[in-house]
Order: sequence, then C-alpha cells, then structure tokens
Amino acid sequence: MKNTLKIDLNGKKNILDFDLKQLKTWMKENGDKEFRAKQVFSWLYKNVTTFDEMINVPKATLERLEENFYIGIPEIVETFKSKNSETRKHLFLLRDGNVVEGVVMQYSHGNSICISTQVGCNMGCKFCASTLGGAVRSLTSGEMLGQIMASQRELGERISNIVLMGSGEPLDNFENVIKFIKDVNSEDGLNIGQRHITLSTCGIVPKINELADLNFQITLAISLHAPTDELRVKTMPIAKVYSIAELIDSCNYYIKNTGRRITFEYALVKGVNDSKEDAEKLAKLIKGMLCHVNLIPINEINENELKRSNEEAVKIFKDILTKHGIETTVRKEMGLDINAACGQLRKSYIEKREL
Ligand code: SAH
Repeated sequence: MKNTLKIDLNGKKNILDFDLKQLKTWMKENGDKEFRAKQVFSWLYKNVTTFDEMINVPKATLERLEENFYIGIPEIVETFKSKNSETRKHLFLLRDGNVVEGVVMQYSHGNSICISTQVGCNMGCKFCASTLGGAVRSLTSGEMLGQIMASQRELGERISNIVLMGSGEPLDNFENVIKFIKDVNSEDGLNIGQRHITLSTCGIVPKINELADLNFQITLAISLHAPTDELRVKTMPIAKVYSIAELIDSCNYYIKNTGRRITFEYALVKGVNDSKEDAEKLAKLIKGMLCHVNLIPINEINENELKRSNEEAVKIFKDILTKHGIETTVRKEMGLDINAACGQLRKSYIEKREL
C-alpha cells in the first residue's frame, strides 16, 4: 500500500494506541509510578487533547509524556449536518495527513457512531466510493478510538453505540480491530458493552471463523447483497474468493459459538439484485438462521451507473422475506442530503485539496 503526505511525528507514539496495562508498563520502564497510568487514562477518556489539561499529574510525568507521545484525537476538518442535525458526517484529519470519515447519529435511545477502519479499502465492491483508490493503509486501534473521542467532543455528549461500517474492511485489519474492541469495551476505556458494537464485513470467511472463536458478544453484519454466487460476483470481488455456501457456514459457526443474531445487509440495486426471484432465493438461503435482514437502497455515486431500487420494488422485496418469517427492516435514510454514502466525503475532500 502506498502512503501519501507523511508528516514528521518526531518518533512520537499515539497514546490512544496504548491500553492501561501497556501504559503502566511504559511508566514503570520510564522511571515513573505505575498508578500514574490510571490517572492519565482517566483524563484521556475525558477527551482531553493536550497533556497540560491533566492537572493532577506531576509536571515531570507530563513532560515525559509530551516527549514521547501525542494524543491522537483527530482534528475534524469538515462537518456536514443533515437538515434536522440528527446526523452529522465528519472528516477526520489523521497525523500523517490522511483523512477518514465517520457519521454520528442521534437517536432517542442514544448516540451512535459509524467509524472507518482503514484509509480507503481493497475490497473493490462496485457500488462503493471508499474503494475507488484502493486501501492506502489500515488504521491503528488508537486512530479508531480517536474518531469517537473527537466526535464526543464536538457533540458534547457521550456516544454509546459503535458501528464499524465506515470506510475499510474491518476483517482486513483484524488485529487492530480486535484490540480496538477490547479497548472500547474496557472499564478503564470507553466502557461500551460489546452488544453495543456492530462489525460489518464483506465476508472474509477465515476471519469470521477466527472472530467466532473469540466469542465476543458483538453484532456481526454481513454484506451479502446477492443470493447467488453468479450475481454476487458481479458487484463484489470477494465472491471470487469465498462462495456464499462457505460464507453461510461461517455465519452458522458464529451463531453457534456466540449465540448472537447475525444481520445480513442487502444493498438493493435497480434491475441487478432486486427482483421477486432474488428475494425468494435469499429467503431460501437464510431461512431458519438466527438472523435479520437490513435492506439498503443504494446511495448512487457518480463513478458508476448503478441505480437505487424504487420504493415499490423495496416493499415487494421486504414483503417476500417477511412472508417467509425473516425479520426484515429497510435502512432509514440518514445521510442522503449530506453525501453520507461510504467514501464519498473523503473523495470529494481529496479532490478539492489536490486542486
Ligand atoms: N467493508 C465492510 C464495512 C464497510 S462498508 C463491509 O463490506 O461490510 C459498509 C456497508 O455499506 C456495506 O454493507 C457496504 O456494502 C455498504 N455500501 C457501500 N457503498 C454503498 C452504497 N453506495 N450504497 C449503499 N450501501 C453501500
């Protein structure tokens, strides 16, 4: 992966990449008291952006931290709010000059954030704007946490639900994503329960099995988007690597291990995967599984000719699944007026910056 716009960080590390145990070890190795790590941690999770704000931490410790670390809460360089302000899309500037997107949604039951796991993406799905330039690099766990902290600062409220559904393929960045989930989950960190975290994947089968073995209680969402391999391969290159049969097997393994209900995401593209026959085939494929289907009429992007299904087709598709006893919802439109489809904001920002 090529990396652009590297900014000299003087060898400093992002302190958000450290969990409490790692910071304790660092403190000890650098001649400080272990318990200071906990003090520093509690400040970090109050979303402070500079070490000076940690007023009960001794000066010598703060100087040492300053020399070796930076607090990787990214700057929000652009924000777009939907008309009712309940959805805001942020563009976060990372330390190396790359930008990633996140979307904050305010619901009556709490605030939710959709974060990016990579700069760009290598999966190549036809309908997706994030993948147009490939993946530049994967994000660290601290860079994922930073998106949440920056958004909490901007919002002035706590965020209680996380969706790994922004740019990038989380299972193509497995280790960092797992560390992120553990850090988010930790009582010393954001303390967000695993059941409040959703991970969305295009279906990297061996990694789904590995995730199932960890026995996390997160929600797994599978971007299925087609009921047959012939159709799936037309929009999703990953379908050349893993068949739907293999994918369904790994989903069943996940359900068996974790007891968690899976979500199948199905982006409806006009005339491509939205016929009554497709709905019948999908119903047959997943009938009896502990699952739920989320239908998403695609957000159209300029770079291809794919069109969203019309309302009537969406309704018929949903009714067929429901008739087969499959719980189905249609994704609420939250960001159409702010260009919130995956990757669109980053792309337009980079185009502007390069002018
Ligand atoms: N790589 C992961 C997560 C990021 S994409 C995945 O594939 O699941 C998040 C979701 O948005 C996926 O279901 C993806 O297929 C969908 N998506 C991407 N572009 C879209 C578009 N233009 N319209 C509707 N859904 C889209």
